Amino acid sequence: MADMMCKKCDCVLEMAKAEFSYLGKTFSAEVPKCPKCGAVYVSEGFANERMKKVETAMEDK
Ligand SMILES: [Zn+2]
Repeated sequence: MADMMCKKCDCVLEMAKAEFSYLGKTFSAEVPKCPKCGAVYVSEGFANERMKKVETAMEDK
């Protein structure tokens, strides 16, 4: 995977833990984050996959 750059400050994004909440559940994931301005870059595919996992986990109960 190529390094992603912050569109604003043009610096390389670092992986950082971020928390998401969906359907009343909170989960954390490593996401690319700009160390300078704190912008988080989450691709739509990544977000959809995480959401699917949460939904699957809930259905399994
Ligand atoms: Zn930035």
